[in-house]
Amino acid sequence: MQWEVVVGLEVHTQLLTQSKLFSGASTTFGGTPNAQACAVDIALPGVLPVLNRGVVELAVKFGLAIDAKINSPSIFARKNYFYPDLPKGYQISQYELPIVEGGHIKIQAGKDEKIIHITRAHLEEDAGKSLHEDFHGMTGIDLNRAGTPLLEIVSEPDMRSSMEAVAFAKTLHTLVRWIGISDGNMEEGSFRCDANVSVRKLGDDKLGTRREIKNLNSFRFLQQAIEYEAEFQKSILETGGEIKQATVLFDSDKRETHVMRSKEDAHDYRYFPDPDLLPLKISSGRIEEIKASMVELPDLCFSRFIESKVDPNGKATYALSKYDAAMLTADIDTANYFEKVVEVIGRKDAKLCANWVIGEVAARLNQNDKNITASPVSPQQLAELILRICDGTISGKTAKDIFSAMWHGEHGASVDSIIQAKGLKQISNSDEISRLIDKVLIDNPKQVTDFCRGKEKAFNSLVGQVMKATKGKANPAQVNEILKEKLGKESQQ
Ligand code: ADP
Ligand code: MG
Repeated sequence: MQWEVVVGLEVHTQLLTQSKLFSGASTTFGGTPNAQACAVDIALPGVLPVLNRGVVELAVKFGLAIDAKINSPSIFARKNYFYPDLPKGYQISQYELPIVEGGHIKIQAGKDEKIIHITRAHLEEDAGKSLHEDFHGMTGIDLNRAGTPLLEIVSEPDMRSSMEAVAFAKTLHTLVRWIGISDGNMEEGSFRCDANVSVRKLGDDKLGTRREIKNLNSFRFLQQAIEYEAEFQKSILETGGEIKQATVLFDSDKRETHVMRSKEDAHDYRYFPDPDLLPLKISSGRIEEIKASMVELPDLCFSRFIESKVDPNGKATYALSKYDAAMLTADIDTANYFEKVVEVIGRKDAKLCANWVIGEVAARLNQNDKNITASPVSPQQLAELILRICDGTISGKTAKDIFSAMWHGEHGASVDSIIQAKGLKQISNSDEISRLIDKVLIDNPKQVTDFCRGKEKAFNSLVGQVMKATKGKANPAQVNEILKEKLGKESQQ
């Protein structure tokens, strides 16, 4: 039997604000338990929620980025349930009228592009946290996270494999960080995915019954959990069983899913509009203002980086490969860094600049677990270095040593002073190279004879000797050229 896997994701993204959705308490991660929970967050009687204006702007930015409809008004609703870390007895969310409706995201699924439709994105507050580990025979409650603003992004069941689901989650992750609405920190829980998974016979119109895997906080777990779940469902159906709708948890050690509860329905939550909060209206003028403040979106930036024709809006294009462009647009800071370097060097050497940013810079940042904004080598400094390669002062190989010295701040981290101090200037004087080659030819008569007898390899060996004699400082192109000329004469004799 051929089965088709169907996946829809719900992603909880923590919005990047200093204070909470309905209170002034801080959202900073890792505070002493309950030190960042004010009267509103712990639900003391008589307090009232006040909407954080900044949160609305971030949600609108997301809606605009995915070409969605921004609902005005949107309505805050109470989602009622009991849990020890939810002192109000309800979570404020949005139900019938979410702030963002519709829209889509383009993903790269293997070689193909695919559109994933977004059902909605709504604002809601996070709950607190139960701490089971630190207390013997008791459970601690930390309400620091209670009231933290989340944007829950719900996709249509458009994905057909774990690979597509991961591609979607990654694209979304890049997007929310790119437009600056979330730090996307998965370890701190700022980007958590619930995966709804069902299977159906290939060709069936009707969707199968789904089970929802809760709280997947890494792309690897997302992939593993969907793969396990799909295999599990197929095996049930193939043996004549049926899938019961349920909410399940993924055990990452055993790589299995386990039922947490049978699936609740919306009516179990008794949603109703929160009488403490007015309908949220956003004027079209305000939406326009927010639109005008937005940065170029990642897929447009990617397309511009691979474009070779001049951009009609006068923006720079670089004719890069898709691979290079994807690496450079992995986050907005890398893209900005690259563009600052090319601004100095010029478009025609964009590929060389890309190689440096993707190569040396990325490798060093990785080794030191640093973000590119914290790179000790600024784009201007890297550009200075690349300029010295382009004008022939240093070879590409020497440039790597200089980069390392710059990274460690040697000699004031200035390219020219490092070249000077270390005596790394490339020898481009042809008389000097010619003299060096003459000496190498005299010292290596065997290689010369070999070459004249047609052994091409002997040529490389001679080039190597010249480079060695100059400690790698001779301009390789010139060495090749002059050596060829001299050997040509030798063979004719
Ligand atoms: P809730 O989970 O809150 O009940 P919905 O019923 O709207 O909300 O569905 C939530 C998610 O489940 C959406 O991402 C949707 O795409 C996905 N989904 C719905 N039906 C299926 C299905 N049969 N198979 C896989 N995913 C599904
Ligand atoms: Mg759900």
